[in-house]
Amino acid sequence: MFRKILIANRGEIACRIIATARRLGIRTVAVHSTADARAAHVAMADEAVAIGPPAPADSYLRADHIIEAALKTGAEAIHPGYGFLSENPDFVTAVEAAGLTFIGPSAEAIRSMGLKDAAKALMERAGVPVVPGYHGADQDDAHLEGAAEAIGWPVLIKAVAGGGGKGMRAVARPADFAAALASARSEARAAFGNEAVLIEKLIERPRHLELQIFGDGTDAVHLYERDCSLQRRHQKVIEEAPAPGMTPEMRAAMGEAAVRAARAIGYRGAGTVEFIVDASDGLRPDRFWFMEMNTRLQVEHPVTEAVTGLDLVEWQLRIAAGEGLPLTQDRIPLTGHAFEARLYAEDVPAGFLPATGTLAHLEFPETVRADTGVRTGDTISPWYDPMIAKIVAHGPTRAVALNRLARAIEDTRVAGTVTNLAFLGRLARHPGFARGEVDTGLIDREIDLLAESPAPARAIEAAALLEAAAAPAGPR
Ligand code: ADP
Ligand code: ADP
Ligand code: MG
Repeated sequence: MFRKILIANRGEIACRIIATARRLGIRTVAVHSTADARAAHVAMADEAVAIGPPAPADSYLRADHIIEAALKTGAEAIHPGYGFLSENPDFVTAVEAAGLTFIGPSAEAIRSMGLKDAAKALMERAGVPVVPGYHGADQDDAHLEGAAEAIGWPVLIKAVAGGGGKGMRAVARPADFAAALASARSEARAAFGNEAVLIEKLIERPRHLELQIFGDGTDAVHLYERDCSLQRRHQKVIEEAPAPGMTPEMRAAMGEAAVRAARAIGYRGAGTVEFIVDASDGLRPDRFWFMEMNTRLQVEHPVTEAVTGLDLVEWQLRIAAGEGLPLTQDRIPLTGHAFEARLYAEDVPAGFLPATGTLAHLEFPETVRADTGVRTGDTISPWYDPMIAKIVAHGPTRAVALNRLARAIEDTRVAGTVTNLAFLGRLARHPGFARGEVDTGLIDREIDLLAESPAPARAIEAAALLEAAAAPAGPR
């Protein structure tokens, strides 16, 4: 096992990784921008190295500075977290060239899944069902529109280099195709420097189900599914495991497809295989299709940890250290139900506008797991992702877990910035969601109800502010 690792990330995921490393007796090195000099992840690590100014391009994306920090501090391996350099094959190559271990898959595996068109072609060859559509090289406008016509309306235009829900446009009829194509391309060019697109059949009222997988380079296992259907603008808001209505047949079929995907690329480490599911007639083994594979630890991994009782970061570290897969498929437990809600600094009534501010107060109830990288007094800056925390609740049944989640959201105290807390609270108490009637359009259909001006929450925030102001200043 490693004696010392460097974490090339910040915020909640850096703190999350440091906690497991410490439990395994591993020393940790944090890296930070000048904006993060006093951040929680820096305070938690055994050592910290400054790697540049606030802009990610000058710090958390500076592969050279990060590798130099690892060499200087004697770290043997680098954990990339998610986002930033986690899915950058050139970074993996550079880390390995420096004689260090990358805690994650090979550069080759990342590259083969990096572009959605190539990934779909690869999965098709491996016998994994993919979303019907066109993912060829011909990017001519008329050709793409012809492909859409052949697939049948409505279709989804997707950036092949896409991520985080960007570069995607749904098109219902031929008259709207040209404009949608132009805007998907320009968003893709700006966000990814690549304007190539693919066309997919738009699955109506779909569910997003994804399989957590682990590989050791040869063999692979899955740690069951997560349902991430509660989304807004193609971004996940509340995730859960297992999926409501899951059947043994569907789980076996999806698990087999995910493991086949991992084996096809000799996958090593943690990964997620994302599928889109037509659940208009229940969950049926012939109605799920591969969308993409994320070759890293996923934001929502805690729900899988809650239902399996396993530590996914521990698995990543053990596999990277050469131990092989910790458990065989038949030994992986599945107990109860879990939810995760993503608490963001954002203005929901204003259209989910990212917000900033200094947290005058931040406190979570002890009844749940709260993964966070900020404390009372810390600042949510415009430089990085505005996620404040992930609230994770587990219970013996879905109803109990959801009740715990809703209660925990209501008992969370946050002041100093606008947040989506009230929105999450309403979502957790939504009757359709409680019945497990989830699909990716639920939030949009119910937005007026879910996003109304948060009057009661304001009162709570004001009370918390007063309380925080009255409390004597103490060590954080
Ligand atoms: P999930 O939330 O399921 O883990 P996402 O695709 O939403 O997966 O991305 C997770 C993290 O990776 C987020 O922090 C997001 O900002 C970041 N991310 C996703 N795609 C990209 C990308 N193309 N470039 C930079 N960061 C990305
Ligand atoms: P990203 O890399 O941005 O995460 P994905 O391909 O994973 O892109 O898609 C993100 C989300 O967009 C999915 O979770 C789903 O809600 C929606 N989506 C993707 N493909 C389809 C499709 N063919 N039909 C309907 N919705 C889709
Ligand atoms: Mg995705």
